[in-house]
Amino acid sequence: MHPIVIIGSGMAGYAVAREFRKLNPDHELVMICADDAINYAKPTLSNALAGNKAPEQIPLGDAEKMSAQLNMQIRQHTWVKAIDPEQHQLHLEKDGQESLQPYSKLVLAVGANPVRLAIAGDASDEIHVVNNLNDYKAFRQNLANRENKRVVILGAGLIGCEFANDLQHTEHQVTVIDLAPRPLGRLLPAHVAEVFQQHLEETGIHFVLGTTVEKVSKMDNADYLVTLANGQSLVADVVLSAVGLQPNISVAKKADIHSSRGILTNALLETNQPDIYAVGDCAEVNGILLPYVMPIMQQARALAKTLNGEHTAVHYPAMPVAVKTPAAPLTVLAAPAEVNVTWETEELEDGMIAKAIDVEGVLRGFVLLGATAAKQRLTLSKLVPDLIPATL
Ligand SMILES: Cc1cc2nc3c(=O)[nH]c(=O)nc-3n(C[C@H](O)[C@H](O)[C@H](O)COP(=O)(O)OP(=O)(O)OC[C@H]3O[C@@H](n4cnc5c(N)ncnc54)[C@H](O)[C@@H]3O)c2cc1C
Repeated sequence: MHPIVIIGSGMAGYAVAREFRKLNPDHELVMICADDAINYAKPTLSNALAGNKAPEQIPLGDAEKMSAQLNMQIRQHTWVKAIDPEQHQLHLEKDGQESLQPYSKLVLAVGANPVRLAIAGDASDEIHVVNNLNDYKAFRQNLANRENKRVVILGAGLIGCEFANDLQHTEHQVTVIDLAPRPLGRLLPAHVAEVFQQHLEETGIHFVLGTTVEKVSKMDNADYLVTLANGQSLVADVVLSAVGLQPNISVAKKADIHSSRGILTNALLETNQPDIYAVGDCAEVNGILLPYVMPIMQQARALAKTLNGEHTAVHYPAMPVAVKTPAAPLTVLAAPAEVNVTWETEELEDGMIAKAIDVEGVLRGFVLLGATAAKQRLTLSKLVPDLIPATL
């Protein structure tokens, strides 16, 4: 019997391995990953500065420790170049050497890649992205090397705003640039986004909205000149791009595994190819793309049972996301994009509760701003219909 093979050592890959081991201590497991397989919590990256955490303090376990803990062979720094669904085998490459890896069942946990804007200028390839621990180490190293602390962040989405708050909190001077007219434009209604922006501005964060970056160039003194489409220009010590993530579908596509925005699966997390499943940021489950921690945990529990012989559909209850911006703490449950909603807002002394109500009067999403509102998280979550019901 061939092993169960997991591609990817991110939160999704490790969560599946951990849940599977709870059910089955013995069946052979192999993890293959392009990186060093260090286990860490990615959400820590956008609040590590305020938490006084150096990059070296973030890892929870290296490949050796994880291999022993999970009784799993881990093949680090190994790329999956191709999947052969018919032969049930993978084509691998490590240090220029090719090899084959057979599988009985295959789990794609290959994550998502940062979107890169087409930006002109001789420093455009020095713009940081942070989507893993190694990216973060490079970013922190560069920050530490700079005399001044001016940081320009491209993107006022969840990750851009979290980094902005974390950096500002540690005495960096942060400017956030976005084409949208307000921060968190995809998650918040305009009236909440305005208050959220105000709170962040009060900490000293500067927003330049409704425009984008055209060019990043080197100046004589190692600073960067950031030129915007509106004609404005800014001087920065470090530039960080956080304009979104794109599910990694390239290896799946080559193997005729269907994809849309992400790798398509049903509620059993099965792709269209036999014995191949997808989880985490790369997976579009029943048409839903939810690149967050809670869905990964739901997926891992269900898939572990399926891999162990008990076919189990994933359950998606309402899973709100906490945005790590202490200057304006937010809990957000986005309503499904295809649902028309109207907003009902209750103002509180330290924030607000905004409810997204559909035409039938059903609560479909919400935004909780501030500590008092956050206490409503569980109560409100229970009122929102499941995205994927517990039993099919
Ligand atoms: C800064 C930041 C903060 C966040 N904060 C929050 C938060 O507060 N709350 C929340 O819910 N979510 C948060 N998220 C999202 C959450 O962290 C992700 O949903 C989750 O970490 C994704 O895990 P993953 O395993 O799917 O993907 P990844 O962590 O991207 O792992 C993908 C793995 O696949 C491997 N791989 C890819 N292609 C190949 C190949 N061809 N061959 C071999 N290996 C391959 C990679 O090497 C890697 O090991 C945050 C994300 C970021 C970037």
